[in-house]
Amino acid sequence: MPTKKESKKMKYLLVVGDGMADYPVPELDNMTPLQVARKPNMDAIAAKGRNGLLRTARENLSAGSDTAILSVLGYDPRQFYTGRGPLEATARGIQLKENDVAFRCNLITEKDGILVDYSAGHITSRDSSKLIEAIKKTLEKPNKIEFFSGLDYRHFLILRNSPNSLQIECTPPHDAVGAEISTVLPEAKSPEAEKTAILLREAIVKSNMILESHPVNVAREKSGKKPGNMIWPWGGGKKPSMPSFKEKYGLDAAVISAVDLVKGIGIYTGMKIIDVPGATGREDTNYEGKADYALKALEDNDLVFIHVEAPDEAGHANDYKLKVKTIEDFDKRMLGRILKGLKEPYAIAVLPDHPTPIRIGTHTKDPVPFAIQSPLVDGDEVQKFDEFSAANGAFGLAKQECLISLLISSTQKTNNIKRKPPKK
Ligand SMILES: [Zn+2]
Repeated sequence: MPTKKESKKMKYLLVVGDGMADYPVPELDNMTPLQVARKPNMDAIAAKGRNGLLRTARENLSAGSDTAILSVLGYDPRQFYTGRGPLEATARGIQLKENDVAFRCNLITEKDGILVDYSAGHITSRDSSKLIEAIKKTLEKPNKIEFFSGLDYRHFLILRNSPNSLQIECTPPHDAVGAEISTVLPEAKSPEAEKTAILLREAIVKSNMILESHPVNVAREKSGKKPGNMIWPWGGGKKPSMPSFKEKYGLDAAVISAVDLVKGIGIYTGMKIIDVPGATGREDTNYEGKADYALKALEDNDLVFIHVEAPDEAGHANDYKLKVKTIEDFDKRMLGRILKGLKEPYAIAVLPDHPTPIRIGTHTKDPVPFAIQSPLVDGDEVQKFDEFSAANGAFGLAKQECLISLLISSTQKTNNIKRKPPKK
């Protein structure tokens, strides 16, 4: 048993490669990107530590980083998840009151009544901020409906003091590409919400009239770019309330991520948010910077949660080569640099939040491989970090929300986990 003083010095790392898990890819000799990628650091953690498969999805909730990361941190999304809008809005500094409902509000491209692009051709903030400004001027009613600019195509619509709007069904625009707009507009799920649903539908239609002829869009179309000619609210929810990470586990925690969604979860769980210059959420992210900031953050936090979005983006783009590269960069340029720089005793968990298989280009609910290494536990037989090896690990198929408890208990006593008998 470690003495109290020793256990105080123990540091914890939670390293998540978003969407890293996959299915076998024909072009990779029917192996997964994790199986093919050169990743000596992840493999060393798997070899020295204990492995398993972790469920991060729930039956009636869609698979995504919002619910999966809550689950990885030990927060049951069925209880604590209220929607994507409030998590991202909070990360952008938008203040929400008790009965406010925050929606994500994409700028999309509409053409001949069809939803053509959920991101208006990945419109940049430079163009989109002017379009949202025009929307604010014409559609905003202070203390009722408000708009806020975000990053690129990702903006926000807030309905103030409007608890009924939780009863509105919105279609995520990335699930409605190619659909006729009139068939995927917001709909009330209860009679009380009907008025607010009409307000949202009218806002969408009016936004099209305002944006269609806006000089920014005229210029975009001239240069062959898709116009941001309609707003699209979705992912609405009230601000969630949850116990802090410190209350739950007794640890001071910090989070490093380029993604608003993860930062929002960090804010609601009371983590310190650490911004890393050059962290982009794409394959060009500042891996080395993330490592250096993580090491610095460990000086005054017990646990640092590092999230890398790039493998998920490669999965969405159906790009297996890019996915292998992001895994290799994640391993060499970030994880390796962290492990080299660590001075204090530490326990580390490595995992994806959910699979984003190349073949289907979106998230699935399959369990993800995870590895936990700590100086106080013996390893299991697993030698490599991937979807198939992990299935033979000592943890077996682990339950939702148990990861942080497993990580913390790995530093408290030896042999605390029953070994799974080797497969015959
Ligand atoms: Zn994703």
